[in-house]
Amino acid sequence: MDLTPAIRPTLPHSRPPRVAVIGGSLTGPVAALLLLRAGFDVTVHEATPASAPLGGGLIGLEHTALDVLDRLGIDQREFIVSDSETILQVEVRDRRPARTVRRTYPGRNTTWTLLHRALAARIPTGVLRQGNRVTGLEQHAGRPVLRLADDTVQPADLVVFADGRSSTGRRLLDPDRRLRYAGYVAHRGTAAHTPRPDLRDFVRLEPCPGAQFNVAPVPDGCDWTFYLDCTADEYRQRFGAPPTRRVFALPRHVSPAARQHVDEHADQLLPPEHTRVVRDTTVRMAVPVLDIDPPTRMVWPVGDGHAVLLGDALAPVRPHTARGANNGIEQAAGLAVALTQHRRYGADLTAALHGWQRRHLPAAVAAVRQGPAIGDRLGLGTR
Ligand SMILES: Cc1cc2nc3c(=O)[nH]c(=O)nc-3n(C[C@H](O)[C@H](O)[C@H](O)COP(=O)(O)OP(=O)(O)OC[C@H]3O[C@@H](n4cnc5c(N)ncnc54)[C@H](O)[C@@H]3O)c2cc1C
Repeated sequence: MDLTPAIRPTLPHSRPPRVAVIGGSLTGPVAALLLLRAGFDVTVHEATPASAPLGGGLIGLEHTALDVLDRLGIDQREFIVSDSETILQVEVRDRRPARTVRRTYPGRNTTWTLLHRALAARIPTGVLRQGNRVTGLEQHAGRPVLRLADDTVQPADLVVFADGRSSTGRRLLDPDRRLRYAGYVAHRGTAAHTPRPDLRDFVRLEPCPGAQFNVAPVPDGCDWTFYLDCTADEYRQRFGAPPTRRVFALPRHVSPAARQHVDEHADQLLPPEHTRVVRDTTVRMAVPVLDIDPPTRMVWPVGDGHAVLLGDALAPVRPHTARGANNGIEQAAGLAVALTQHRRYGADLTAALHGWQRRHLPAAVAAVRQGPAIGDRLGLGTR
């Protein structure tokens, strides 16, 4: 009997396939680190220059995403802010807690800043190219070629767009799926003190339809998010540009009128200790809540190569779903699995990528659909 293995671990390429990852925030670095480990030749292109100040708020990560980070050798103690798994959902009446429901979250909280720092520290020198925006995708002699803002070009075998809510990749590959403003804003800040000295859990205050306030501990204080209705015109006046263009309002975009709007709602709706936290927060940010049609695909052929969308580039979801970063990390891990089967065992690349799409598309679609349902339940935004 012939016992020769039917599958021989031969390398399908004489050189490692070249992967260009667009976006150096969360999804991009996770994909890059996993693909580097699997032996791919990876470059990460990030539009923001290295000198730009970066920061972001609280992010809940479920066990699958935490496990991916664990397998990258990133110990939870490096990026998890508290070991609490508790969510306290508090109904607020007349600025006082009226009823509290305790839930257990299947995961833990990090912040964008801590997680980004942990990932960026592990990207080898020379892999990350910062300060140069990807502007186009073409093909030359059957190979995908990226065009960058400085008019240079970069060939690749696979282009991984992890370039966020205003994705250039989505605009190029899936141009009919446009962002729509949902009619409310997540106002955010990090305060140097907490509403109560013993704050350990994620606390969600629901004072009335059309408002929600979340607060949780972070190193040196607490991180809060206050969801409030806001028309597109009001957004433009308060943050200087339309919500589908200014998809993140940085501290410099937050006008005194935006600040006053948030402070006055805190005065009217929140318990006094939470109002103090809001009023004492000097640096504010805001994120307009956006919707998009659910994706129908994640993979596109480009000549003999491929381009894929993942993370917020594929499907930005409403923050209440707490699925954006989770989806991005899970998709990145699944992509590395599919590409490893191709590289190590000669699996057909197109079939491997379509298998990846089949496994991950349903979760992205579900999260896109869940967002408006949660918004409606909270009475937030336009219905
Ligand atoms: C208030 C709030 C709370 C949230 N809570 C949670 C939560 O609890 N759980 C959860 O899972 N998710 C949560 N999210 C969502 C999560 O923050 C996002 O899904 C996640 O940050 C997306 O990561 P990303 O890397 O895919 O995209 P982004 O973080 O948007 O990164 C995209 C990167 O690409 C770069 N870029 C863009 N265009 C180009 C270009 N043309 N060329 C080169 N680079 C480019 C950008 O500069 C950026 O660095 C929350 C979001 C908000 C706003």
